[in-house]
Amino acid sequence: MSEIIAEKNDLIVVENLKKYFPIKSGILKRTVNYVRAVENISFTIKEGETLGIVGESGCGKSTTGRTLLRLLEKTEGDVFYKGRSVYGMSKEELRNLRTEMQIVFQDPYSSLNPRMTVGEIVGEALSEHGIARGEKNVEMVKDIIERCGLAPYHIRRYPHEFSGGQRQRIGIARALALNPKFVVCDEPVSALDVSIQSQVLNLLMDLQDEMGLTYLFISHDLSVVKHISDRIGVMYLGSMVELAPKEELYKNPLHPYTQALLSAIPLPDPRNRRKRIILKGDIPSPANPPSGCRFHTRCPHVMEQCKAEVPEFKEAAPGHFVACHLVK
Ligand code: SF4
Repeated sequence: MSEIIAEKNDLIVVENLKKYFPIKSGILKRTVNYVRAVENISFTIKEGETLGIVGESGCGKSTTGRTLLRLLEKTEGDVFYKGRSVYGMSKEELRNLRTEMQIVFQDPYSSLNPRMTVGEIVGEALSEHGIARGEKNVEMVKDIIERCGLAPYHIRRYPHEFSGGQRQRIGIARALALNPKFVVCDEPVSALDVSIQSQVLNLLMDLQDEMGLTYLFISHDLSVVKHISDRIGVMYLGSMVELAPKEELYKNPLHPYTQALLSAIPLPDPRNRRKRIILKGDIPSPANPPSGCRFHTRCPHVMEQCKAEVPEFKEAAPGHFVACHLVK
């Protein structure tokens, strides 16, 4: 078990979550191995906070978000929402839970049905859950799309008539139509132009204040995560390697992988330079992860112990967790 201890105001508690995908082969499609996408991670999210998860592509951050919402089934571990196991819920309870837990996807174009109008896309869940039909549905859709920065007349238009930024606003409106408490934002600005990214981030932050939302914000971009998060978790090859309040993580990164990621961010003043840490090699395959510390094949500080022993994810300073043998 990890040392993460749930507290009273935690909305989400993730305990030792694992998600493996089987690799099948041969005519009989036998399982020959597993992609270990998420390996034993634990964290909590307080009500009203934004927890950012950052890491390179393929590190398991999106799988974590989806397994947490039970859009993907877990392999082991558990997820608690308001103290209740998401995996212990019946189909009916899970259906009701969908009104409280939602997701905003990365690609606003492919996640929106091109044959449906904005009104139909955003209003669909309201009718499906029996919350609002007919005129009331239209009124509620107009209200939420206006809050998301679109105009009421947009409800009659189709996704292809909008820019990338506007399409993501539609995706956000769809996620918020049911007035959820918790939203997984899965790389919501990665597909957008840099000039539009901050508008969408600011919209998410304004809506969080207005509607009392709690976010899990997933991104490969440390600057984006820094802008929006209260605390940040760093993932590498399916494992959470560091978790700390935002300021603490940027000021005092303890894990060599976090240090390397931060060293790649340019400083605002070009006269101040920091030494860039270049990691050797590529990320190993999650189907065949390295023994011991999963980062040992690329770590500049690797020791013999790292190759054999998995480092414990422990609290090095109040609220600052890290998994590294260098941190005693
Ligand atoms: Fe590097 Fe060892 Fe720490 Fe892993 S445990 S990050 S290999 S020093």
